[in-house]
Amino acid sequence: MNQGGPVEVLIVGCGVAGAAVALELASRGVPVTVLDRDQPGTGATGASAGMLCPQYETPDPGPAFRFGVESRALWPEFARRVEVLAGWPLGLRADGMLVANRTPQEEEQARGMLDWQRQAGLGGEILSPAEARKIHPHLHPDVPSWCWLPHEGQVDAQRLAVALADAVRGSGARLLVTREATSLWVEGERVRGVHLADGSALEAASVVVAAGAWAPLIRDLPSLLPVRPVRGQILRLRPPSPSPWPLVADHQGCYLVPRENGTLLVGSTMEEVGYDEGVTDEGRARLAEGAASLLPPLEQARLVERWAGLRPMTPDTLPILGPDPRLRGLHYATGYGRNGILFAPLAARAVADLLLKDTTPVAWEPFSLARFF
Ligand SMILES: Cc1cc2nc3c(=O)[nH]c(=O)nc-3n(C[C@H](O)[C@H](O)[C@H](O)COP(=O)(O)OP(=O)(O)OC[C@H]3O[C@@H](n4cnc5c(N)ncnc54)[C@H](O)[C@@H]3O)c2cc1C
Repeated sequence: MNQGGPVEVLIVGCGVAGAAVALELASRGVPVTVLDRDQPGTGATGASAGMLCPQYETPDPGPAFRFGVESRALWPEFARRVEVLAGWPLGLRADGMLVANRTPQEEEQARGMLDWQRQAGLGGEILSPAEARKIHPHLHPDVPSWCWLPHEGQVDAQRLAVALADAVRGSGARLLVTREATSLWVEGERVRGVHLADGSALEAASVVVAAGAWAPLIRDLPSLLPVRPVRGQILRLRPPSPSPWPLVADHQGCYLVPRENGTLLVGSTMEEVGYDEGVTDEGRARLAEGAASLLPPLEQARLVERWAGLRPMTPDTLPILGPDPRLRGLHYATGYGRNGILFAPLAARAVADLLLKDTTPVAWEPFSLARFF
């Protein structure tokens, strides 16, 4: 049974990946329906730290770095669009990041990274402890040097996750919540829509799979989707004094993200525990220890809340974007891994271009599903 007649483009999942594609298509006048099995924002997007940090996150000048830098440049425009449509601010900031070099090897690594990043036109420098403390007065005194990345930034992902749903509605796209796609509806060599958990079906000219870590659970996809959940836990602390300072991180993946309301997020673990979204005492202890090793006053911080989310991770950590080479009308916007908030604006452009025109100026080929065949 089809409900309400065919739609032009049907997007499965209203996290940042699906919502950004919906906004992009709606801005081009394409009728869009977005489906989420839950309330939007309850996936990885709402659990995220919201850092927009391609320089910190990518270890080499490969495709993820270039994609991330280009996407970071789109963020101010993307945030404005969401803010106007949703009617509330997203807390976008670009006030830089300090990374602790705890050993000579880490400083060496940071210098090497800055070399290739400068060749890509990006700024950054190694600071002495005294220089770094001019940027952030409470840094741990035992850290021998810091890497300063002035262009890194963040968006408040908890606000973003909710605002995206409002923005999708405001854009004229249709958002159907608490509706789960269980399997793809295929006819011959093309996609025909999706079957839903309530036994109904939605017919569409094109389907975009943007279901995050749960994407491979949709049945009857023509290809095995190599996406798996990787759990990340986060603590929200209230520091003894509010922190107007920038992001702080170390080389082991512990990071501190100050929010406008005076709280501070501490992230994050990388755990292979399947679809378990629970938090653990071990995770809490590890994050609290990492936080205090960067900013000693955080030993006195009060724990406000903690949560976990599931990153949609691929074997090579790169996203999966664009058409399925085996089935006409089926497209992907998934596998965004650790950097989905960062990647979403540029990924949405690429996915929309490929869906509407079969071509895009975005360098998306490294992200095609075909790389796994
Ligand atoms: C702890 C943590 C910290 C992070 N920090 C950062 C960061 O600082 N910067 C950054 O860029 N990225 C970060 N990430 C990664 C980022 O959050 C993800 O890459 C991104 O949110 C993925 O977005 P998504 O839309 O693909 O998935 P999700 O946000 O998980 O959305 C998927 C949506 O699909 C829906 N869905 C699933 N299956 C179905 C179905 N069958 N039918 C209908 N709907 C379905 C779900 O309900 C969900 O709403 C972090 C992630 C975690 C967990």
